[in-house]
Amino acid sequence: MPKIISKKADHHCRRMTAAFSEYLDKDLRKQLCRKLEIHLTGCSDCRMYFDTLKRTVTLYRSLEQETLPKDTEKRLFATIKLARSKGKK
Ligand SMILES: [Zn+2]
Repeated sequence: MPKIISKKADHHCRRMTAAFSEYLDKDLRKQLCRKLEIHLTGCSDCRMYFDTLKRTVTLYRSLEQETLPKDTEKRLFATIKLARSKGKK
């Protein structure tokens, strides 16, 4: 029944998730890494996203591809959104 999606939190998480792939490439500055880690400990949505992304990146790396296609990233985020709407009743 609650159809209210916290736009503020979503926006915040979007900024976080945008940095995840860079984080996985170890290209982020240390301070931002800390921020990400702190956010991850407090945000289960992002943790789930990060975990999925990490696994996908690992998979891609094992296939010897360096970057994650933008399309895959988009699909991942859509999956998380779906999981969120299903999980919250
Ligand atoms: Zn988050």
